[in-house]
Amino acid sequence: MNKVILLRFGELYLKGHNRSMFEKALISNIKSALKGFSFRFEKTTGRYVLHDYDIEKESQILKVLQRVFGLVSLSVADEIDTDRTLIEARLKELAKTLEKDFRVTVKRADKTFPINSDDYSAILGEVILNANPKLKVNLKSQLNNINVEIRENKKTYIYQGKIMCNGGMPVGTAGKGLVMLSGGIDSPVAAYMIAKRGLKLEAIHFHSFPYTSKQAKEKVIKLAELLVPYTTSIRLHIIPFTKIQEAIHVNCHEEYMITIMRRIMLRIAERVANNVGAGAVITGESLGQVASQTMESITVTNSVMEKLPVFRPLIAMDKQEIMDIAQKIGTYETSILPYEDCCTVFLPKNPVIKPTVEKAEKEEEALNLDFLISQAIQDEEVIEL
Ligand code: ATP
Ligand code: MG
Repeated sequence: MNKVILLRFGELYLKGHNRSMFEKALISNIKSALKGFSFRFEKTTGRYVLHDYDIEKESQILKVLQRVFGLVSLSVADEIDTDRTLIEARLKELAKTLEKDFRVTVKRADKTFPINSDDYSAILGEVILNANPKLKVNLKSQLNNINVEIRENKKTYIYQGKIMCNGGMPVGTAGKGLVMLSGGIDSPVAAYMIAKRGLKLEAIHFHSFPYTSKQAKEKVIKLAELLVPYTTSIRLHIIPFTKIQEAIHVNCHEEYMITIMRRIMLRIAERVANNVGAGAVITGESLGQVASQTMESITVTNSVMEKLPVFRPLIAMDKQEIMDIAQKIGTYETSILPYEDCCTVFLPKNPVIKPTVEKAEKEEEALNLDFLISQAIQDEEVIEL
C-alpha cells in the first residue's frame, strides 16, 4: 500500500480543443508550485496522482496545491492494486480506527471489475461491520465516509474526505495581464481574482522616492511575492514617478492632480503592457470607494487607453468583502503596514469629484507627456519574483 495525494480538476473546461492546452498548463503549474519537494507525478484518467512524497511534508504540500488555480479538490489516499483480498484487508484495518457511524461509497470506474458500485459498497459495509461490530452504518455520514475508487489503471484508492481548492482556470491559459499593484489592500486582491481566471500576471508599481520611502517599495515587492503561490511567478516593473508628480504639481490645477496622475499611470501601464505582450491592464478599483473611483473619474482615466481593456475585478465589491479575500489569501497583514503610496504625495485638499475629459486634456497641455512617459519607462527597475 502507498500513500498518495489525488488531485482533481474542473471537468468543465476540459471539453474540445482547449483540453490539451488546459492540462499542459495545469501540470506545468503544479510541478512549478512543488519545486523543492520530492515526488512522482502520474497523469491518469480524469485526475492526477502524486506518489513518493515526503509524508512529513504532507501538510505543506497540500497547502501549496490548494493555491494552484484549476485544481478543485485533493484527497490523501491509500493506493492498492485492484484485488478484492487486498481491498478488504485494508478496510478491516480501517474499521479499527473508526467510531460510531460510517458509510462506504464505492465508485467503479473500471468496468472490468466484476461487482457494481452499489453491490460492492454493501459488501464492504459488511466487511467493516464484521471487523468492528460496535460500528453502525449511516448513509448520511459525511465524516466517516469511506470512499473506495476502483480506477481504470487497475489501482484502487481508499480515502476519507476532500480538501477543497480554489478552482478557477490554470494560470496562463487566458493569456497575460499587467496588474497595477499599489501597496494597498485592493490591488493584490484584484491580482488574485484575475489570475484565477487564467491570466498570467506581470505587475507595475509607481513609486515616488524620496517622497515615498524605501519601505513603501519593499512592501509592494513583498505583496508581489505573496501572490506568487497563486500566479506561479510575477515580473514586477517599478516605475519612478517622482518627476511626473513634480511636473503635475507645478503645471496643473490642484483639484485635477489625482485625475492627471491616474491618466499618466494608465498610459504608462498600457505602454508597458504592449511591451511585454500583456492583453489587459488590471486595477483594484471599486465603484464609489473614493473620489477617484466615481463613474465620472473612471471614465476620464479610462479614456486614455488606446486599445487594451482595463479589467476591474473589484468594481462591484464592498470593502469588507475585499478585506475578507485579502485575509484569506494572506496579503492583508502586509497591505495594512503604514507606508505611504505615491497617490498620497501632494494630496490636494479638494480633488475633483466629477472631472471631464476635456478639462483633463486641457490641463495636460502644460506637460511634456511623451517625454515624461518615455523617461519613466526607460528608468524602470524590473524584479523577477
Ligand atoms: P489599493 O488598495 O489597491 O491601493 P485603493 O482603494 O487605495 O486601492 P487607489 O489608491 O485610489 O485605491 O488606487 C486605485 C487603483 O489604482 C489601485 O487598486 C491600483 O490598481 C492602482 N494604483 C494606485 N496607486 C498605484 C501605484 N502607486 N502603483 C501602481 N498602481 C497603483
Ligand atoms: Mg491605494
